[in-house]
Amino acid sequence: MTVTTSALPLLFTEVEVVSVERLSPTFVRVGLGGPGLADFGVDGPRWDQRIKLVLPDPTTGAITSTEGADESWFATWSERSAAERGHMRTYTVRDVHGSGEDTVIVVDLVLHLEGDLVGPGSLWASTASVGDRIVVLAPRRGFPYGGIEFAPALGADLLLVGDETAVPAVCAVLEQLPDDATGTAFLEVPVTADVQDVRRPAGVDVVWLPREGRPLGVPLHDAVVAHLGIAGASVDVSPDEVDPDLWETPFYSSSGEDLPVGATGVGGTYAWIAGESKVVTGLRRHLVNELGFDRAQVAFMGYWRRGVAMRS
Ligand SMILES: Cc1cc2nc3c(=O)[nH]c(=O)nc-3n(C[C@H](O)[C@H](O)[C@H](O)COP(=O)(O)OP(=O)(O)OC[C@H]3O[C@@H](n4cnc5c(N)ncnc54)[C@H](O)[C@@H]3O)c2cc1C
Repeated sequence: MTVTTSALPLLFTEVEVVSVERLSPTFVRVGLGGPGLADFGVDGPRWDQRIKLVLPDPTTGAITSTEGADESWFATWSERSAAERGHMRTYTVRDVHGSGEDTVIVVDLVLHLEGDLVGPGSLWASTASVGDRIVVLAPRRGFPYGGIEFAPALGADLLLVGDETAVPAVCAVLEQLPDDATGTAFLEVPVTADVQDVRRPAGVDVVWLPREGRPLGVPLHDAVVAHLGIAGASVDVSPDEVDPDLWETPFYSSSGEDLPVGATGVGGTYAWIAGESKVVTGLRRHLVNELGFDRAQVAFMGYWRRGVAMRS
């Protein structure tokens, strides 16, 4: 049964898997649809819009209930046991098809099935089939929701950097950019077969960096420092220096830094960097400490932390 609550300024609704496509060894593309998405939308471009998927607990397979959800839905949801409430994970709207009750949200999920701790998101993605049901939290048209971080100054040259978890966001941004946009995107993926053909403006270069067995983040780090003219710069980030909640944007600072005040100006370079928190921390150090990037023109986001499950 699909339940949508009209009382909420966001969508908290059950959806159905309407398509599943294995894009490559690492990525599964899932289409999510249902009448509960009829009011889905944001005012203006959705850029790197994030949403939450509430995935069933792997042992029970139960789907969390959205019945009667009101402003206190989060507290009510959190109080349930994991078996009952499932697991909330953050993903990016890779694309949107259709409209009204035929709206389909497209999400690209990374499969990371190695190691002792395989998360419910990756596990769900590995078996997702048409007809499966989950719950999404997503923006309702006409209401503020947040979750869009991409905010370059007018005419800024773009530096977009991400590992596989940020590939959906960077590709979504590339496809929405105006034709006269300029810049470079660096995307690290596990293997060459993960490289995607993405639509982009002629002035934006896309550099794919398959790891092919090299340590996580090394190809990205080396390519970005070379691009910034500080080739050879190394950074040693110790585990206790990494903020697992790393989120430093012009609008929010997880470390409590002062946020920039006022207009972001025009031109210059805008850097959007997302991925594993330690890797992002290292790159942040170069951009902010060594190169003195303007705080108003950078977004550094820890999309995941090695060895640490997302809180749900
Ligand atoms: C704003 C935002 C947007 C995001 N968009 C996407 C997206 O579109 N697609 C996507 O796939 N992910 C995306 N992510 C990342 C995703 O939320 C995390 O990777 C999340 O940890 C996956 O949940 P899980 O249940 O699979 O693993 P968890 O239960 O959170 O973690 C279990 C274990 O898996 C490890 N792990 C988590 N992710 C990875 C990974 N990618 N590779 C290797 N090990 C990993 C953890 O370190 C932990 O040891 C996004 C994150 C944010 C904050």
